[in-house]
Amino acid sequence: MSEITLGIIGGGQLGSMLAIAAKKLNVKTVVFCDDIDAPAQNFCNQFVTGSYDNKEKISEFINQVDLVTYEFENIPYETLNEINKFKPVLPKPSVNRLIQHRLAEKDFVNKLNIRTTRYVSIEKKSDIDALEDFLPGILKTTTLGYDGKGQYPIKSSEDLNSLNIDFSKGYILEKLVKLKKEISIIITRFSNNKYEIYEPIENSHEDQILKYSKIPADINEKIFNQSKDWAMLIAEELKYVGTLCVEFFIDRNDNLYVNEIAPRVHNSGHLTINAFNVSQFENHIRAVCGLEQIPLKKISNAKMMNLLGDQITHYRNMQKFNENEFFFDYLKKDIKEKRKMGHITTLV
Ligand code: ADP
Ligand code: MG
Repeated sequence: MSEITLGIIGGGQLGSMLAIAAKKLNVKTVVFCDDIDAPAQNFCNQFVTGSYDNKEKISEFINQVDLVTYEFENIPYETLNEINKFKPVLPKPSVNRLIQHRLAEKDFVNKLNIRTTRYVSIEKKSDIDALEDFLPGILKTTTLGYDGKGQYPIKSSEDLNSLNIDFSKGYILEKLVKLKKEISIIITRFSNNKYEIYEPIENSHEDQILKYSKIPADINEKIFNQSKDWAMLIAEELKYVGTLCVEFFIDRNDNLYVNEIAPRVHNSGHLTINAFNVSQFENHIRAVCGLEQIPLKKISNAKMMNLLGDQITHYRNMQKFNENEFFFDYLKKDIKEKRKMGHITTLV
């Protein structure tokens, strides 16, 4: 029986599912979150609330744990680095610093000779001139974006000018890819060349928010292999420990691009809970806590649907589900439009 207590920064649904997986492995969890209503408090052993730069609360948190991981990437680097002086933080803080900045992230991926969308940094008003090569495109804040937040579609330079961009923040302009499909790879790296990697997952978005994921992905063999190879290369280059997700675009000519990397468990991997012998969450806990690596086995094909906003109500009121349906309610206090409230996985 393990005697490990794991600290998890972030108390949303990913934190909850990590805590559930940890419990199964007899790993105790302490969740730290800036939201006093964080859903993960329903699933962890201890809950500490405070802002992510509250030194007192953070030391209260780290005094209770053996090591620390996180469920989202927008944690101040300084906080992770400070914690790392006292208790190991995995994945290591430098990985998080790299990936939370869209430009640094894309530069890193390109250096590995892996294709990304074409992009340009926008730091000042004059950068907006002569951008025709990158249009139509999407303007994104370089940091702190998620679920399409901080993103603006741009068709012409006039669009850019009329946006009145706040140049105190950094931006990236990305050329729009004519999408045929989006897929993701979830990989858990344990140590040098030791991985568990899930098959590609096919994802559909609505309003830039993930709506459906399914396996198998309907893709050709070349993309199947290339996406896995690229994810392995990225994880190895980062000397990553834990579960990581790489999001990909496939264009109409079947070219593969890395869209972004998530240094954490990922929404598209929720179906791994029911479709595999070991979920992405359990694998993350196993890797960061140094527990046994178990070879992955697929149990079933599956599809997952995110329940956004008040779509949850219908499922909360359901008396009974079919044997192959698994409903997860994130137990969020308030229903908000487009907020991820739960999901349902169907084994097919
Ligand atoms: P987030 O951090 O919000 O997940 P993403 O960069 O992954 O941001 O963008 C969210 C979604 O928006 C993508 O999954 C894709 O559907 C769409 N999107 C973003 N950038 C592009 C692009 N350059 N070309 C085509 N679609 C894009
Ligand atoms: Mg994304």
